[in-house]
Amino acid sequence: MDSLVLHNGTIVTVDGDSRIIKNGTVRVGSDGQITAVEPSSADTTPADADRVIDVDGQIVIPGLIDAHRHTDFTLVQGLFSELQGGELLKEAIALYHRAEADLDDAFFEAAWRLASLRQLSHGVTTVNAMDFTPELGAETLGEAGLRGVIGPELADLIKPAGPETQLAEAREFIEKYHGTYDGRIAASIAPGGEAGCSRDLWEGIAELRTEYPDLQLHTHIYDSPEADTMAAGSGADDTLALLEAHGLLNDRTLLTHVLHAGREEARRIAESGAHVLHCPTIYSYFRAGEQAWFPLPALQEHGVNVAIGLDDPFWFDSWDLLQEAKHARLLANYEYGAQQWTSYELLKTVTINGARALGLADEVGSLEVGKRADLVVLDPKPARHLPFSNLPSVVMNTLTGGDVATVIVDGEVLMYEGTVDSMDPESVITAAEDARDRLQDTTGWATSLAGSSPPETSIARRIAARPTLRVLKQYGQGFLSEHLP
Ligand SMILES: [Zn+2]
Repeated sequence: MDSLVLHNGTIVTVDGDSRIIKNGTVRVGSDGQITAVEPSSADTTPADADRVIDVDGQIVIPGLIDAHRHTDFTLVQGLFSELQGGELLKEAIALYHRAEADLDDAFFEAAWRLASLRQLSHGVTTVNAMDFTPELGAETLGEAGLRGVIGPELADLIKPAGPETQLAEAREFIEKYHGTYDGRIAASIAPGGEAGCSRDLWEGIAELRTEYPDLQLHTHIYDSPEADTMAAGSGADDTLALLEAHGLLNDRTLLTHVLHAGREEARRIAESGAHVLHCPTIYSYFRAGEQAWFPLPALQEHGVNVAIGLDDPFWFDSWDLLQEAKHARLLANYEYGAQQWTSYELLKTVTINGARALGLADEVGSLEVGKRADLVVLDPKPARHLPFSNLPSVVMNTLTGGDVATVIVDGEVLMYEGTVDSMDPESVITAAEDARDRLQDTTGWATSLAGSSPPETSIARRIAARPTLRVLKQYGQGFLSEHLP
């Protein structure tokens, strides 16, 4: 007997034929696998299942996949919203250094739990994270019933610990957490990128790669115009050559940002089989000096797999992956001309393309028999959405994360009609509020409903900070020297 049946809904399968089934049924077996995706009919009576969910008038899509995320500092949300790029960098450096030194695991645990709650309630069922507290991430996502690929961020030019220590901790994380929580939690190898890693660390990462050839390698590249110069510091001709030299560029490689890359780099990425992860909002919200835009036409022309992620959603206060895809489309159309993506193709960037990048395309990313039952039910019934046609455009242009009604992962119903079952939202929010108060007490940030202001005593406001954080990599050495005192 099947454990779960959703029937009478509109199913957007995202399968190879890009099917839309107007009045459809999804059946899920007792092991959490999809057993049927078919038109509803008298023969597909749902009565023989443990649980039947009538999704009449609703839209069923594959669970959303946030292809690139950081989570440790979720609780800084709202602090940076009104700062311009240069101020943000100074304050982020000061704040993160204080927080890492002065706050305990409870702070980061509250951050992961709040992030998991927000992710779940926005329809994100899989997250690809890169963080300094991966153990808390594995346990929080695992217990919330979500799917996660988590990489301990390796960056000896950012984090005080040396390469040996960081690599040992990464091995320990992989051994302890990869494949846990019924296989929902996986580990990745996650070098911060050209600006975060020394030559010694790259060499150690190459060894780690050889030891764990089946893991995905998740990194940032070409997010500043100085990327190739930084790669030269590690003895390579350019960034892609740096990865190639260490055996780190292949179809298990995930390259995040790729802003300052051209047609030739797109061709080389395509040839390697590597995937590209695009995070449009952060780079448009904090537009920093002159910068190139994501080279979508060249990547499309060469057939590179592109997936979308939220990066640091707490910097720009949005946790909505559907909106993130919309931003990607608007910015690409603005830069290169209309119709860079069709709506159905855009939906793939937050579903099957993310699954492909993560090596999970046989398991999730589309609604097909034999895959794990990760799916999201969207509710377009409120009058503000009716009437409509062109369903893909409704999903990608009209609906938002606020229209997510029901979320299922591995066949388990984690949220039903807006009520989260796999977490206790009240305790998550209370813990986040407490941790946030401690953050303010510790760092001197002042916040109110009217806004937030950094402490007058912020060390980075008075003296030049050593530009060693990941934010440096995101905006570039030139930008920092221009803006830091
Ligand atoms: Zn990132």
